[in-house]
Amino acid sequence: MATLEIKDLRADVVTDEGNKEILTGVNLTVRSGETHAIMGPNGSGKSTLSYAIAGHPKYQVTSGEVLLDGENVLDMSVDERARAGLFLAMQYPVEVPGVSMSNFLRSAATAVRGEAPKLRHWVKEVKQEMSKLDIASEFAERSVNEGFSGGEKKRHEILQLALLKPKVAVLDETDSGLDVDALRVVSEAVNEYKANNEVGVMLITHYTRILRHIQPDFVHVFAGGRIVESGGKELADDLEETGYVKYTGKAEAAG
Ligand code: ADP
Ligand code: MG
Ligand code: MG
Repeated sequence: MATLEIKDLRADVVTDEGNKEILTGVNLTVRSGETHAIMGPNGSGKSTLSYAIAGHPKYQVTSGEVLLDGENVLDMSVDERARAGLFLAMQYPVEVPGVSMSNFLRSAATAVRGEAPKLRHWVKEVKQEMSKLDIASEFAERSVNEGFSGGEKKRHEILQLALLKPKVAVLDETDSGLDVDALRVVSEAVNEYKANNEVGVMLITHYTRILRHIQPDFVHVFAGGRIVESGGKELADDLEETGYVKYTGKAEAAG
């Protein structure tokens, strides 16, 4: 059982022109076993929320708290966050030239598990998860995210999820750049992980289509840097019909 609590979180983005407030008081509790969809127009601050939780240096928390089982996440180093059971998949994952996927995954697993996984067992585990995600085996020797297509980056993210076994996963726009088949493969892998692990999922998305594959227990509308409405699955259907205009007062371009 794990609980992620976000309490009145405010955060700025740090730019050359100074700080700009993006998160304006986010409140959300995610418990293991629950899937929360965070849906909002482009530019509403959804990615800023995931960066703030991840501790990205370009985002400065100005007030509020993020707690994982009562522990202050914002005080933890990136490694400590991972060890505590937090998994953060970014909308734009970083490229790490010169570091192969297999080395990267093994060091990530070592950081999270506190000891290096036994090599033979590890190779088997990785192969198994890769085949579930339809990832070709040569992928393991490629540099992390370098020259990956959008779809490959997303598969890689879910591969990490399956191997690192977090208690709470924040998935930012996992559906972006995926064609219909890739979306199905990735969604099935997330669903399998959910079925076998007590995980809390925050699924950040602009579009409702991924919610046809990954069923949310709760849907939250994110606008102006905070959650402005919460409900069940039916709220996603409403959004599909009416868009975000009701919440923002203006029609939003897709993207
Ligand atoms: P979303 O993920 O909902 O599309 P973001 O969190 O990416 O929204 O962006 C929220 C707002 O913060 C936008 O207005 C965006 O332009 C601004 N923003 C985000 N990152 C930066 C940055 N590095 N520099 C300047 N503005 C930024
Ligand atoms: Mg965006
Ligand atoms: Mg975003």
